[in-house]
Amino acid sequence: MTIQQDSMHACPACGLLCDDISADAIARQQFSCGKAAKFYARVTTGVSPQVAGQPASLAEAVRAAAAALKQAAAPLVAGSSTDVHGARALVRLAQHTGAAMTHINASSTLRNMKVLQHRGWQTTTLTEVRNRADVILMIGTDVVSHNTRFFERVVWVDEAMFTEPAARQIIYLGGDQLNTQPGVSPDGRAPEVIACASEHLPEVVAILRALVMDKPVTATTVAGVAVSTLKTLAATLKAAKYATLVWVSKDLHYDHAELTIENITETVVALNQKSRAMGLSMGGSDGDTSVNYAHTWLNGVIIDAPAWESHDAVVWVNSYSPQAMPPAGTQPVIVLGAPDSIFESAPAVFIPVATPGLDCNGQQFRVDGSVTLPLTAAKPTDLPTLTQVVALIEAQLQGDLA
Ligand code: SF4
Repeated sequence: MTIQQDSMHACPACGLLCDDISADAIARQQFSCGKAAKFYARVTTGVSPQVAGQPASLAEAVRAAAAALKQAAAPLVAGSSTDVHGARALVRLAQHTGAAMTHINASSTLRNMKVLQHRGWQTTTLTEVRNRADVILMIGTDVVSHNTRFFERVVWVDEAMFTEPAARQIIYLGGDQLNTQPGVSPDGRAPEVIACASEHLPEVVAILRALVMDKPVTATTVAGVAVSTLKTLAATLKAAKYATLVWVSKDLHYDHAELTIENITETVVALNQKSRAMGLSMGGSDGDTSVNYAHTWLNGVIIDAPAWESHDAVVWVNSYSPQAMPPAGTQPVIVLGAPDSIFESAPAVFIPVATPGLDCNGQQFRVDGSVTLPLTAAKPTDLPTLTQVVALIEAQLQGDLA
């Protein structure tokens, strides 16, 4: 294994895609982010394909995967933890085999997509937030549990074009077990924290939206939060030059959380009647933005949540989450994924593939959807890419291989 010494790398371990990871930091394993450290410490060499838990050649494993897919009446492509190129290959495989396709984060992604489809939204990019935001309201999230370096890369930066970064006002509204320490400004100013449990955010955010819209609110408290506090928050948002309302759909994990997201995005719409505000959906992992985009532009529909019970074979791709597997009892499972996958029981077929950004080059969309970044192989290996393995399976299905 060699480590490429001559370039900066974009880290694909979360949706932030920090593109300042030096080859030297990878070689020395020195990171300011635990997720990145874990990602670049992965060992992906010395693993061969398996069929029914037994070592097999790549050709044998491809034959077994094709045979399992041929027998299936309703296969499912799932996990789909990969990059743009891998997503394209999976969409093709799904079309070829008549399979449905989903993603490991489909349920939380759908909370956002329902709002985008039904109402539309006004959202911004990380660059705009870095250059303009003077008030940042985090709703139900600390962001850093998902995107560790959010404050370092976007908020407490040295320079911004249209605002003074160190003077930004950080406010947390609701959420469970938040880490608010990163919200402390460089000069030691504590963020404002308006506490309420995540499950109460539906009513709290609805009242905030009403107050921003100047609707009469007669209650004095909502879910334990003083309405006077929310009135002050509404006034702060209205007075901001560029308020940014941030959420992470994974952190809004209660029934009909899309309605909370809609109240957030419609609050943004209301603010934009007289001032300037934007929404920012953060989080992202396992290439979810990339896979959803590729699926949408190739199929014309967004990716859906899995209905495991409706399928009789699963192709599972877990390149960025080696520990992730389909629900127990799902079979047969064909794993085209992380060489360091962790199995409780052996899948029907296991073909280790290169992880984009670690073993091979690739490409991903950042969580704000505004840019794609190239992923360069940090520790190149000779593992086949997902695209190559899918092509072999398709050729086998077409009878092109002996
Ligand atoms: S914040 Fe995300 S993208 Fe940035 S280094 Fe950490 S895991 Fe990688």
